[in-house]
Amino acid sequence: MGKIAINIATGSIQKSDTIVGIDLGTTNSLIAIVREDSKQATALREIDGLTLVPSVVHFDAFGNPSVGVQAAEKLILEPQNTIYSVKRLMGKSYKDVSKESEFFSYKVIDDNTDALVKVQVNDQFYSPIELSSLILKNLKTRAEHILKTPVNRAVITVPAYFNDTQRQATRDAGKLAGLDVLRIVNEPTAASLAYGMGLKVDEEKTIAVYDLGGGTFDMSILHIHNGICEVLATNGDTYLGGDDFDHAIADYWMNIYNIPADHTLKQNFRLAAEAAKKQLSHSEHYEASVGDYQLSLSKEQFEQIVMPLVQRSLDCCAKALQDAQLSTDKIDEVLMVGGSTRVTLVKESVKKFFGKEKLHDELNPDEVVALGAAIQADILSGNNTEMLLLDVSPLSLGIETMGGLMDILIPRNSKIPNKASRQYTTHIDGQSSMRISVFQGERDLVKDNRELASFNMKGIPGMPAGLAKVEISFLIDADGILKVTAKELRSGVEQSIEVTPKYGLTDDQMEQMLLDSLSNAKEDMQNRALLEASTEAQQMLDTVARFLQKNLAMLNEEEHLLTQKQMDILKESIEKKDKNLIQKETEQLNEITRPYAERLMDEALKDAMRGKKIL
Ligand code: ADP
Ligand code: MG
Repeated sequence: MGKIAINIATGSIQKSDTIVGIDLGTTNSLIAIVREDSKQATALREIDGLTLVPSVVHFDAFGNPSVGVQAAEKLILEPQNTIYSVKRLMGKSYKDVSKESEFFSYKVIDDNTDALVKVQVNDQFYSPIELSSLILKNLKTRAEHILKTPVNRAVITVPAYFNDTQRQATRDAGKLAGLDVLRIVNEPTAASLAYGMGLKVDEEKTIAVYDLGGGTFDMSILHIHNGICEVLATNGDTYLGGDDFDHAIADYWMNIYNIPADHTLKQNFRLAAEAAKKQLSHSEHYEASVGDYQLSLSKEQFEQIVMPLVQRSLDCCAKALQDAQLSTDKIDEVLMVGGSTRVTLVKESVKKFFGKEKLHDELNPDEVVALGAAIQADILSGNNTEMLLLDVSPLSLGIETMGGLMDILIPRNSKIPNKASRQYTTHIDGQSSMRISVFQGERDLVKDNRELASFNMKGIPGMPAGLAKVEISFLIDADGILKVTAKELRSGVEQSIEVTPKYGLTDDQMEQMLLDSLSNAKEDMQNRALLEASTEAQQMLDTVARFLQKNLAMLNEEEHLLTQKQMDILKESIEKKDKNLIQKETEQLNEITRPYAERLMDEALKDAMRGKKIL
C-alpha cells in the first residue's frame, strides 16, 4: 500500500507520556494537565499553592538566569538585568518595537546581522526565543518535579492575532527548552475549550472572549460549529491591562501628595496599587501605609480612576463586533479571561456592553487558557476519544485530475482527524502507471495551488481505458499528518512510495491562497461540479462505446439492449445539465457494465498469460 506521511502542521510524533498545556503569558505563565484519575483539567500547583509563574527572567552578575517570583522581585532593584514582557518581542524586528522601546527598562538592541530584536544584559545578547525558552524550561522542570515524570511534549497557546513568525518563534522557544511543541493553540480557542464549548457535534455558537491580562487586552470573536472553531475577528490593545490600572492608582496617590511623577516612590506606590486593586474585587475599601504616606482608596474612587481604561477595552469590543459584522445579540456566550477580569467594574461593564445577564467567569480567569491547552493536549494524546478536535485543516486537500483540475478530497475547514477516499481510473488503453499528485489550496486548477507530494502508482495491469479502479485515500490524523494511500481495486495492486515532507505554509501564504480563491469562488464551483459530472459521464460513455465496438460478442441480446438504453438516458441527462441526474445515471451505467469489465479482465489476463510461463 502506498503511504506518504506529510506533516502539514507540526511534525511526526510518537505517542506515550503526558502532554502538558502551557499558557506562555506576557505577565504570567502556567502549566496544566488533564488528570488521569479525575479527567479534570487542573493547573499544576507548587507546594506553596501557586500556579502562576511570573514571566520574568533575571540574570545575576555571572549571567545565571532565574525565573518566576524570584526574578520578579528584582524588577525594581535591577531593571537592566530583569526581563519582563518578553512575549511582546517574540518574532519582532527592531523596527517593530522601536516605537515601544521606552516601555522596556532593559536594553532592547538592534543587531544589524539579525533582523530580529535582541536583548542585552551586561555583555550578553539574548533573543526573545532564548528568553522565552528559559521560562518554558522553568515550567518544564516544575512540571517534572510535581508530576514526577519527564515532560517532553506540550501544547502552547498564543494570542489569536499572532502571525506566523511569532508562532514559529514560540515553537522554537519550546524546542530550545527541550519540548516537542505538538500544537500552537489560540488563547481564546483554549478558553472556550476549557468551558467545554465546541466539543459537541451539532453545537453552534458565537462566542466573545474578553481577555484582560497584565499588559494586554485581547478581544476575539469565535464561531464554533460541529467542533470546528473559526476566529471571526480579533481586536485589542497591546498596551492595556491590569498594569495600567496599577499605574493609574499610583498616579492618583502621587497627585494627592504632590510627589513628582518620576520619584522612586512611584514603584512602591505601584505595588500598593496592585494590592489595592486586588482587594477591592471583594471589599469596599483599601488602606495601607507606605513609608510616611497613608494610602487609601475606596471602591468608588478606584472605579472612577479605571473607568476610562475599561471604556477603551469596550471600544475594542465594538470594533471586533463590527469586523465580524455582528451585533451583541448574536453573541451567545461571553468568556472572561485574564487576571484583570476579576475587577468588578470590568465584569459589570462587559455584562452591560453585551447585554448579558450572565458571563462565564466560573473558572479561574488566569488559569483558563492553560486549562484549555491541557484539554487540547489530552485530545492529542488520544486519551479523550469522545471529544472532537477543534483544529481544522485550513486549506483543502486534493489531487490533480485530468486537465490539471484540483479534485478536493478533504475540503477546507474540515475538522481533523478526517478521512476521505475516491476512485479514479485510467485514461489510456493499457495504461500501466498513474501519476498521483497531492495538492493543497482552494483554486480550481492545481497550478494555482501548492503541491505537497506526488508519486507514480506503477504496475496497474494492462486494461482498456476506464476499467482500472484506483482508490486514493486521504487520512489526516489528530496530529495533522496526511497519509495518502493508493490501491488498484480490480487487481489489488498496491504501491509503496516515499515522499519528503515539505514545510507548512505561513499564515500569510495561507490567507493569500484563501483570498485568491474567494474572488473566483461560488459560481465557479457550481459550473465546475456540472463540468466534472459531464466529463465523467462522457468518459464513461466513450469507454462503454469502445467496449461494445470491440467486445459485443461477450454480451447477450438483453444485456446489449439494457446497456444501449442506459447510454441514451445518460446522454439525455448530460443535455439537461443537471449535475445530480448526470451522476445518478452515470452510476447506473457503471452498475450495468461492471460485470462486463470483470469478464473483460479475465480475458485480458488470459491473453496476457498466453505463451508466458508462470513461475
Ligand atoms: P497575562 O495573560 O498578561 O500574562 P494574567 O491573565 O495573568 O496576565 O493577568 C495578570 C493581571 O491580573 C495583573 O495585572 C494582575 O494585577 C491582575 N490581577 C490578578 N488578580 C487580580 C484581582 N484579584 N483583581 C484584579 N486584578 C487582578
Ligand atoms: Mg493571558
